[in-house]
Amino acid sequence: MPATNSIEPRFDWTHAEITELFNLPFMDLMFRAQTVHRQNFAPNEVQVSMLLSIKTGACPEDCKYCPQSGHYNTELEKEKLMEVQKVLEEAQLAKEKGASRFCMGAAWKHPSEKDFPYVLEMIKGVKALGLESCVTLGTLNDEQAQRLSDVGLDYYNHNLDTSAEFYDSIITTRTYQDRLDTLSRVRDSGIKLCCGGIMGMGEEQKDRVGLIRQLSQMMPHPESVPINMLVKVEGTPMANVDDLDEFEFIRTIAVARIVMPMSHVRLSAGRQGMSEQTQALCFMAGANSIFYGEKLLTTANPEADKDMNLFNKLGITPEKREEHSDQAVMEAIADQVVKQEESKLFYDANA
Ligand code: SF4
Repeated sequence: MPATNSIEPRFDWTHAEITELFNLPFMDLMFRAQTVHRQNFAPNEVQVSMLLSIKTGACPEDCKYCPQSGHYNTELEKEKLMEVQKVLEEAQLAKEKGASRFCMGAAWKHPSEKDFPYVLEMIKGVKALGLESCVTLGTLNDEQAQRLSDVGLDYYNHNLDTSAEFYDSIITTRTYQDRLDTLSRVRDSGIKLCCGGIMGMGEEQKDRVGLIRQLSQMMPHPESVPINMLVKVEGTPMANVDDLDEFEFIRTIAVARIVMPMSHVRLSAGRQGMSEQTQALCFMAGANSIFYGEKLLTTANPEADKDMNLFNKLGITPEKREEHSDQAVMEAIADQVVKQEESKLFYDANA
């Protein structure tokens, strides 16, 4: 059922107002979040994205939570940039599994001139399949943001991670302002924003409030707001931080939903470690976007099937986006394959 009576978003939330939301009795908070959700979205639809790491590990940044950082020894297998065709095969599988958006992540400080053209080809190919495209490539300059916009990139993911005050305890190689600058370049180039943070890194509630307030001051709000639960990885400095109470995590989703009523709030990393009941409460609180697994290497993806089972139990359906006819999709794929072969833009991993 389409949403009606949507509430106009506000950009002037105060720290005190957001704190007050966090501290509402749980049931009152959930009721309020669910009410806002129903005013703006179909209540039983969840948008499904697929995330693929197109370049893994050896990142020069020192984000303390991240197994891809070259600063920590996490025994992660490092990989160079994937071939364009391989990425598009994964995108096709994601589409067949019901994903409407394909997100490609590269562990870079910023994209290099050498790699950038391949990423542009990936975006074009993903769009030709009828999927929305999203990339996360690190810091961007004006020209790079514009080139991504020119090939029709739908979303750029660049998280703020936490509050400005807590940020320096998490990352020292890139400033909060660097992140805000990249976000405003992306916004200025006409690409939609995917921007959120990570909960459970040892931050206090005031930092969760600070993050949501920072996001709420962006005009417009980020179209997509990932709320992640820290996944503790052995070898990173955050391997042993205390767990965040799951109710506090659910509260964070509910507050994000109320403060940014038109944004898709994504239940993101950390979901696989949650019970079905916790995930259901996150959907109740207004989360309406998820990632399917990290990778779809074969058509049988147990994680994706598990997600579909949960959707069935809850009566949730994947949010649809405008579909091309099968014929149009097949033609687009064929066209892309021919173009790639001709353009010799296959990435040579040995180069
Ligand atoms: S920039 Fe991204 S890939 Fe690199 S260490 Fe930070 S979170 Fe990990």
